[in-house]
Amino acid sequence: MQEILITEEEIQQKVSELGAQLTEEYKDKFPLVVGILKGSLPFMGDLIQKIDAHLEFDLMDVSSYGNELVSSGEVKIVKDLNTSVEGRDVLILEDIIDSGNTLSYIVKLFHYRQAKSVKIVTLLDKPEGRQKEIYPDLAGFTVPDKFVVGYGLDYIERYRNLPYIGVLKPEIYQK
Ligand code: 5GP
Ligand code: MG
Ligand code: MG
Repeated sequence: MQEILITEEEIQQKVSELGAQLTEEYKDKFPLVVGILKGSLPFMGDLIQKIDAHLEFDLMDVSSYGNELVSSGEVKIVKDLNTSVEGRDVLILEDIIDSGNTLSYIVKLFHYRQAKSVKIVTLLDKPEGRQKEIYPDLAGFTVPDKFVVGYGLDYIERYRNLPYIGVLKPEIYQK
């Protein structure tokens, strides 16, 4: 790892804070928490344990046409939800918002499917990458315009299992 940007302790502390805020907001709402695969999985696993409210969760897998490092504007659903969002307070969990292409597509889709409300919680926000006007309702950390890995985030499927967020050494991409 070239640099550790966010330590395991910082992540866990932030997850607890987000959980407390979401408990307040959703305690009487029975939200549908939607994790976007695969990157949000560690975040979702930790965060839902810190939300002290009844909730339901489901998973969705989307992919953007493009290569590993740069997303294109087009999104396709690889695995859709098993649960209807109609009339539900939906809380989308993401690992990172970069261009915003993925989330702007999903938010539109959930509104089209008549969700009662749609909110976004992202662990990481990379505002410099933004191509779409989309803002998280809650964000754990703002990161610089660098390719980060760990805690769900991959580089060719590796590093998702790290408990921290870091930046890889440039040699790793040049191989
Ligand atoms: P967006 O559609 O906002 O550009 O980003 C969607 C997805 O691209 C994220 O959920 C994530 O899977 C991937 N992504 C964006 N930035 C990074 C990054 O810095 N590192 C990694 N590993 N994935 C990223
Ligand atoms: Mg993602
Ligand atoms: Mg990836």
